[in-house]
Order: sequence, then structure tokens, then C-alpha cells
Amino acid sequence: MDLQLFNTLSRRKERFVPLRPGHVGIYTCGPTVYGPAHIGNLRSYIFPDILKKTLRRLGYQVRHVINITDVGHLTSNEDTGEDKMERAARQSARSAWDIAAEFTRRYLADLARLNVEPPDVMPRATDHIAEQIAHIRTLEAKGFTYRTEDGIYFDTTHFERYGRMARLHAGGLQEGSRVEMGTKRHKTDFALWKFSPPDVKRQMEWDSPWGRGFPGWHIECSAMSMKYLGDEFDIHTGGSDHIPVHHTNEIAQSEAATGRPFVHYWLHGEHLVLGEDERMGKSEGNLVLLDDLVAQGYEPLSFRYLALNNHYRKYLQFSWQALKAADTALMGLRRLLAETGLPAPESPPPAEREASAPGWRLLAELADDLNTPKALATLWTVLRDGAMPAADKVALAAAADAVLSLNLFDASRLDAAREVPPEIQALAQARWNARGARDFAEADRLRDEIRKAGYVVRDGKDGFEVVKA
Ligand SMILES: [Zn+2]
Repeated sequence: MDLQLFNTLSRRKERFVPLRPGHVGIYTCGPTVYGPAHIGNLRSYIFPDILKKTLRRLGYQVRHVINITDVGHLTSNEDTGEDKMERAARQSARSAWDIAAEFTRRYLADLARLNVEPPDVMPRATDHIAEQIAHIRTLEAKGFTYRTEDGIYFDTTHFERYGRMARLHAGGLQEGSRVEMGTKRHKTDFALWKFSPPDVKRQMEWDSPWGRGFPGWHIECSAMSMKYLGDEFDIHTGGSDHIPVHHTNEIAQSEAATGRPFVHYWLHGEHLVLGEDERMGKSEGNLVLLDDLVAQGYEPLSFRYLALNNHYRKYLQFSWQALKAADTALMGLRRLLAETGLPAPESPPPAEREASAPGWRLLAELADDLNTPKALATLWTVLRDGAMPAADKVALAAAADAVLSLNLFDASRLDAAREVPPEIQALAQARWNARGARDFAEADRLRDEIRKAGYVVRDGKDGFEVVKA
């Protein structure tokens, strides 16, 4: 079976051919660990997880790298802002190292709750300063860099193919867009190494051949991906917002250093968009976190279902209503499986090889640029098919779950979710009334009381619902 992937380089679906038969290297741009990951960030790690698990079902051995950006990511895309880590440290009176450790831990915990498998390698930028310096020295020796008063920059006019993937026209960029120039010569040039400002004591800084300072954001991804996957590797993933700057610069500095193609397939996930109604229930400013979903009584995997029910290259409009629908659907699949009365298989069956089998169809849908909405639809059709033997349904669901990872055989919530005692219902009704009378203090008090009893109230536009926490 062929795997087809939409490659941003060509803007088409292409048949996947690995560099080394049977093996695949994948690099995914990881989080900048100055704060919590919101659900939009988290969505961009779900599709590489599906990719990795689909590749495995197709018989490949996969090596997956996700980096941790713990230095050098500035608040502006133009090399003039403040380092996000140093800013977070200044604002919270904690050390940047502390903050990085905490948000790396929280990121990994979020991935685990979403059944996203941890990467095989998770390099931190601060652990790879020597590799980044070595890469910059190579670029310097080949004449791609210049020095200004505040750093070492990559001269994009020396790299002929600059901006090809993003379809940037350097001429147009020079004329049109407003770019903070700082000390650089051309609008698209970018910092490889920044000097520590003379008047500020940075927490994270290192000596280099050019002076004390810290690496730019882009160089870490080239240095670390090449270290763990080789100078030329198969697949690189990230959010679509990375196309015009971050990934464009990764390609330039990597290919300028080696003279060879850097990555064969670039896969980009589209954004998650928040509707107006979704401003409620946010614990961190303008962000919705996985914790906010859990506080509303949702299982993290309901968010995974929502993400999978939308193709990764399409915008995902997040709403509480959509999440609730996803939660109901997930419960529906689990109920259909529970009703077979059969236990979950100990391990998923091997991938089916006959084109007529439903398992083959489902895998073919995943192999068609990770079409998870179609795979879910197939799963529904099969589980509802009255003519299909229960054992076949269970086998297919186990095969599907090896990739979708929705805990389809988990029946723990099926009964518990239904039973809410009448006294809790009464408290929830009283809270709804207090809210209607704009007595928010009383409404909050009742919400706490309900929560202490082990239940959660979810508000909708025209009513509420109580579920077990
Ligand atoms: Zn990156």
C-alpha cells in the first residue's frame, strides 16, 4: 500500500518514498517552554502522532524527534524582540531554567493525556549550543554570514533558492512588507547568534567565537534535526505559521551548509480557531488549555477525537458545542464495542492485506494523507453493521485504535457518566437559577459544592448539564 502525503514543497500529494528502505526519520518543531501549551499548540502534535503510527502499521521503523525550545525564541519574528524565556523569568521572578523545566514537564503530561506518544529523542536547545556554534561556523566559512553590532546574521541574498517553499518573492518583500530591520542588511536576513546586550545580565548565555551571547531560534532546529536524523532526512512537520519564516530559514541555513536537500517532505498542520463564545472558562489569559477542558468535565481524548474528525490541513473551529459532540461520538463508539460483549484483544491484529477487508480500507484512508475523518466514518459504518460478526468488529477497532489511540475499549465512563444523583441535579438547577438572577457569588459557591461532590457542571447557551468529574 502506498502512503500519500501532501508536501508543502510541491503543494501536492506525493507518494512517500523513504531515503532508506523501511526506515523513516521525522522531525517536529516542539514547544517554546515559557508558558503552557494551548489546545491549538497541542493539535499540531496530534497529526505527527497519527503519521508515526500509520507508518508503523505500514511496516516502517520510525525515529521521531521533537525539540524543546528553551532559549532564543524572541517575541518578534524579526530578531529585535526580547527572548521569551528571559521575559517570562523577569515577569515571574523565577529562573528561566526553572520555567523551562516546569513547562517541559507540563507539555509532556499534556501529550500523555492526549495519547500522543513521546518522541524517541527530545533534544533541548540549551543542551546543543556546541552543535549550533559548529553549524554557524560552517556557514561562516562558506561566506553566508555577516557580523553586526548585535549579532551574526545569515545573508539570504547569498542563498539563491531562499523562500522557495514559502513562494516568497524577495523583491516584493523588500518593497512591500513592514519589517523591523534592526541591524540587518536585508528584510529576510535572520540572526544565527545574538550577543548578550551590554547593559543586561542574561540568565542563559554562552561564549562563542564571536562573543558572549545566545543562538537564534531557527538554528537550533537545523543543528538538532541533522544531529539526530542526518543532514538529509525524510519528513519535517510543524504548524502552517512556520512556513514563511522559521521553516524557510531552516531550509536556507541547512542547505547552505551541506549543499544538499535538507528535508524531502514538509507537512504542515492548520490552526485551531476560537469562536467568540469560547472566551469563557479560560485559566490563562486568552488561551484555552487542556486543563480548561478537563475542568469542564471533558476527557482529554474527546479533544483528540475532535481533532481527528477534522483533517489536519484544515482549520479547526473550536467550540464547546463541537467538543461536546465529539465527546458524545467517542462514547458512542465505545458503547458499540462494549455491546459486543467481547474483550479487547491483547494486541492489535497485523495490518490486513486484502483490498476487500474493512481493515485494509481504514488503513488506506489513513495512508491517503492521514485522512482521519474518513477513517472514523469507516469505523462507525463497520461498528453499526448488523451483518458483521462481533469478533471482526473488535479486531477492526483494535487495528484502528493502534493508530487513532482513542482508548476505544475503555468502558469506564459508559455507566458512570449517566448516573447523577437527584440532589446534585437540584444543586445544579439552583446554580443555574442564581446565574440567571446574576447572583454570581452564589452561583460560584454552588459550583464549588457540586465539584466537591465529584461532579462538574457544563453551561451551554440554553441550559446546563451535569457529569461525573
Ligand atoms: Zn523548528
